[in-house]
Amino acid sequence: MPKNEREKIRHPALKGASEVALARLASFPELIPNPIIEIDLEGSLTYLNPAAALKFPNLREAGQQHPILAGLLSAVENDQENSFVREVEVDGEIFEQSIHYLAESDLIRTFIVREITEQKQVEAELSQRDRLLQAVAEATSYLLAELNYETAIDKALAVLGKAAQAHRVYLFENNPHPVTEEMVVNLRFEWTCSDYEPSVYHWQDDSAQAFGLSRWKTALESGKSISGLTREFPTTEQELLTRCGIQSLLLVPLRLDEKLWGYLGLADCSCERQWSKHEESTLLAMAISISGAKQRQQVEERICYQALHDLLTELPNRLLFNELLSNALPNAKRNDESLAVIFLDLDQFKSINDSLGHTLGDQLLKSVAKRLRDALRAGDTVARWGGDEFTILLPRIHQIEEVVHVARRILQAFENAFYLEGHEFYVSASLGIALFNDDSSDAETLIKHADAALYQAKDAGRNNYQFYSASLSTKTPKLLIMEKSLRHALEREELVVYYQPRVNIATGKITGMEALLRWQHPEMGLVAPNVFIPLAEESGLIIPIGEWVLRTACKQNKIWQEGGLPSLTIAVNLSLKQFRQPKLVETVAMILQQTGLEPRFLELEITESTAIEDLYFTESVLQKLENMGVRLSIDDFGTGHSSLSRLQLLPLHNLKIDRSFIQNLTTDTKVAHIVKAIVGLGRSLGLRLTAEGVEKEEELEFLKSIHCEDVQGFLFYRPLPAEKATEILLNGGVTS
Ligand code: C2E
Ligand code: MG
Ligand code: MG
Repeated sequence: MPKNEREKIRHPALKGASEVALARLASFPELIPNPIIEIDLEGSLTYLNPAAALKFPNLREAGQQHPILAGLLSAVENDQENSFVREVEVDGEIFEQSIHYLAESDLIRTFIVREITEQKQVEAELSQRDRLLQAVAEATSYLLAELNYETAIDKALAVLGKAAQAHRVYLFENNPHPVTEEMVVNLRFEWTCSDYEPSVYHWQDDSAQAFGLSRWKTALESGKSISGLTREFPTTEQELLTRCGIQSLLLVPLRLDEKLWGYLGLADCSCERQWSKHEESTLLAMAISISGAKQRQQVEERICYQALHDLLTELPNRLLFNELLSNALPNAKRNDESLAVIFLDLDQFKSINDSLGHTLGDQLLKSVAKRLRDALRAGDTVARWGGDEFTILLPRIHQIEEVVHVARRILQAFENAFYLEGHEFYVSASLGIALFNDDSSDAETLIKHADAALYQAKDAGRNNYQFYSASLSTKTPKLLIMEKSLRHALEREELVVYYQPRVNIATGKITGMEALLRWQHPEMGLVAPNVFIPLAEESGLIIPIGEWVLRTACKQNKIWQEGGLPSLTIAVNLSLKQFRQPKLVETVAMILQQTGLEPRFLELEITESTAIEDLYFTESVLQKLENMGVRLSIDDFGTGHSSLSRLQLLPLHNLKIDRSFIQNLTTDTKVAHIVKAIVGLGRSLGLRLTAEGVEKEEELEFLKSIHCEDVQGFLFYRPLPAEKATEILLNGGVTS
């Protein structure tokens, strides 16, 4: 259009021009600001209006290659309709293009309706928003509905990653380090789009500071996000991100009750991407949902923990123990291993609880739980079964010694005093052990057998461990019959006390008598104590029987004294169970009082093994007896594997060297040396020494040579009934 004509259109002076003329002028392609292009069916440009020439300067040059013309011919040929609209992109700008096929002139006229770049961007953003919103909704529903927290997070991150078209989505947690307890960053969850491998370099188990990320921590802690292009980050952060192949990062805080517990991040690894406000708010919304899920998980964990743990000691409870045991059994079978179940019961806990109150009792249980945990190997489990009962699972057992070792360690764990609120307590424990084998092949039986073994341990005087054994638990019928009739032995007066004189080597005089029990059974004849005392121990009958022996022996000594015979001590044996009975000291005092025997004429014998079971306990009981004036003696010395140094803490008067040493005295020089050493050491500790079981003259000679004071043995006297013993005493130590 000639310049003057164009000016006419805009010129106010044209106001008066005819309407028709103006309409004609306005429709004139030359005037229209929208580009108009015409091509023929060969694809050659036939017309280009000035707007088109201005907008697309290289149109002529590019020809069919130009996006405006590309595909027009084929579109017209394939399209049934003569007009259609399409969108084209030219140098980053998007246009709506209207296309008309003018059949009458065989031309294609195309008209750029408008530029829609911005609209397109808005649309894209809107649909991205839609996608993100949908993703948040979908992810939130996973986080709410999915029972497994891990699965829920995995699903949520995948949905988010896909919707945000990110390459990676991360969830970091702040956790206390298992050893140092310092707060450390841990990558807990990661989603990567299928084109990307998960990052090789992970942020794990180190503090934000160590990673050089203190800035992030401070920002995130105050609720701010970290967002931007890697190359715009400070150098240390850049290095870290580059190592992970990240080009752009968006990180938002994960907070619960105002406390930062982690970070949620989106990363782009292929291009530099500016994160939109909307993406950030989506991520924040997601962070809130995830924090909600975390909170629910924590609550669930707590509920689950409470259901499976004892709240006082924080140990697993019975339910969890059963479950762990059931899981361990197939493993043991598969690996051809054994496992052990230990049932542990605190000795005399009830009396502590009753006398000190439940608060201290509870504290004691807590301390016990801690000691038990410390005494076990990694992988072992200790559970509180209830009250003062604990169960222990030792998996992966290859040799019984491993169990013995742990059992000993557990008993040792009780050797030191417990200090609670200024009080000092000594508590011991009894352990019953069942091993996974043919006799005990399922969880229930194992526990039952460990429990049965515990009772054996209790019967054996507490503070010890016992293994369950099928043969031990089933008594032979003869023993069963004997146990039954033993119950009546006392009332039927079938029990008899024999007396074995103790002789002073130097003077040859009788210095004491040992009371030794016999059972005059109507059918079986005279039954030796080694046979029936264990039965009496097991059934508890030892208590009344022992009391009867003590009374009989004291009475007898008093009779001898009143008969004008030289004063001597009467020695009475106390079994482990007798020694452990709470009323021992009172019973002894009462019997002495009732019989009128002076305490110094009574000697109580406990074996070395009884003495060392619980040295503190032994010491306290012996001290009370010593204060009363009673003499105390260690019987069967040398068989209990203890040492004199341990025994020297006890207020003792007499040491009786076990018969097994005397038997080998003359045949084994090593034994002779040992006996000599025992005598020497015993004397240096101020103890009187008695050799038991002296049968031969040579034995006596040797004992004499090493200055052992007393002997007891068949060489002089066998254990004798009271009348016989009286006779001997009357004869001044000579048998008639
Ligand atoms: P003990 O206290 O060590 O008693 C010594 C044992 O050695 C006695 O066996 C005695 O007869 C035996 N003996 C003594 N001299 C000789 C000897 O020269 N050669 C041999 N071969 N043996 C000798 P006894 O009377 O059969 O008692 C066995 C154990 O039974 C006692 O060992 C003691 O531990 C226990 N006992 C005996 N009476 C009682 C009792 O009233 N109460 C308790 N709790 N235990 C008792
Ligand atoms: Mg004895
Ligand atoms: Mg003995």
